[in-house]
Amino acid sequence: MLSPVGKRGLASLVRFPRAIDLKKYGTQARIKVANPVVDLDGDEMTRIIWKMIKEELILPYVDVDIKYYDLGLPNRDKTGDQVTVDAANAIKKYNVGIKCATITPDEARVKESAEYNLHSMYRSPNGTIRNILGGTIFREPIVLETVPKIVPGWKEPIIMGRHAFGDQYKATDFVAPGPGKFTMTFTPDDPSSAPQTWDVYDFKGPGVGMAMYNVDESISGFAHSCFQLAISKKAPLYLSTKNTILKKYDGRFMQIFQEIYDSHYKKSFQDLNIWYEHRLIDDLVAFALKSKGGFVWAAKNYDGDVQSDILAQGFGSLGLMTSFLITPDGKTMETEAAHGTVTRHYREHQKGNETSTNSIASIFAWSRGLAHRAKLDGNSKLTEFTASLEKATLDTVDKDKKMTKDLALAIHGDSLTRSHYVTTTEFLSLVAQRLKTNLNQD
Ligand code: NAP
Ligand code: MG
Repeated sequence: MLSPVGKRGLASLVRFPRAIDLKKYGTQARIKVANPVVDLDGDEMTRIIWKMIKEELILPYVDVDIKYYDLGLPNRDKTGDQVTVDAANAIKKYNVGIKCATITPDEARVKESAEYNLHSMYRSPNGTIRNILGGTIFREPIVLETVPKIVPGWKEPIIMGRHAFGDQYKATDFVAPGPGKFTMTFTPDDPSSAPQTWDVYDFKGPGVGMAMYNVDESISGFAHSCFQLAISKKAPLYLSTKNTILKKYDGRFMQIFQEIYDSHYKKSFQDLNIWYEHRLIDDLVAFALKSKGGFVWAAKNYDGDVQSDILAQGFGSLGLMTSFLITPDGKTMETEAAHGTVTRHYREHQKGNETSTNSIASIFAWSRGLAHRAKLDGNSKLTEFTASLEKATLDTVDKDKKMTKDLALAIHGDSLTRSHYVTTTEFLSLVAQRLKTNLNQD
């Protein structure tokens, strides 16, 4: 099993397979970072991009102790997935995790035995990590001027937080074969309280039924994560529910959010001139389409599942969607690109063909993760660096008009030609050049 790098810092990384040779960077003039970040390596095309980002964009400028965990499928298999658990615990300890996309093995992957020869169908690393850290996963699009959006009015990101516990995803559903009575009973643990039973429906013929639940503890954690994020983004927060129909169920979500807002966050929101409001889901969907963006959307589990895909499409390419997990205390953050390992492109790469994979969301995983480190450490030089890195990336597309195929396709459609886009590595080199020039000018 690969162990994380120790106190000796970056130089010790060279001992590990596929690690980066740090000797060439020396120690001159790099930004010193007081505390470590956890680096979770991944698979396929994104693994190739990941190495380049570290070598070309981060390590030449930033002297940070990287705790490296190889979550690539071969190493997850070798360690019986222990490396994922170790990585999650390291994120808990150091408060910053920066994650490359990873394969979630399915039946087809297990069959690709020549390549992976898996011992087991490991569960999604993201699921394992979230179970250990808790918290809420938000998705935030990167907005480029040059790239047309399906919803053209969206000028600023809409950041969506999905409550990833309970509701439909833990429901008990059934098929009623014919006429009969559907009842629901709650039996308190306390023997002195009587059970409560509700008549749900008298079936006159066959049909279907369902019971579902949620818990105050999880809703409260979700609320805290959302308020914390709105404050850090200096953006208003909207919670959507269907409280007109589910008066008690969704009413509880509304009530918990309002109580936490009033008791913990109202003052900070007022100071920042932002606000919190509950909206009926129907109203918020319509509002979102008409708005220019620029808000945080707290969505229930199912609503978030569906609406986040609408947002991803509406803002353009999957390569522009970032994802991050925030714990309820706002202290621990794990960042990543929202897309997967881009297997189709990797197959081309393996055949020796050229690829044009968008690395922007992966670059932003690094910039956002390091920005969180900078915030926790009060490291203003590091904050400035992360802003320069993001600017260099956006300017490469918006000012230099250099981009990968997915973005070029969004602009040129059917009239796309080879001259409209650059390769995976060319794009990263162009960002690196711009970053170098920008930093030397300062
Ligand atoms: P994917 O990797 O997101 O790619 C699906 C398609 O979307 C690609 O074939 C490509 O379209 C386009 N695309 C996605 N990211 C792109 C980028 N950065 N630049 C350009 N185009 C991009 O999804 P998938 O192929 O369904 O999944 C591949 C693997 O990733 C699976 O093993 C899955 O388990 C894993 N996955 C991991 C995560 C995660 O770690 N968070 C998330 C999702 C999926 P074209 O083919 O049209 O060019
Ligand atoms: Mg979905």
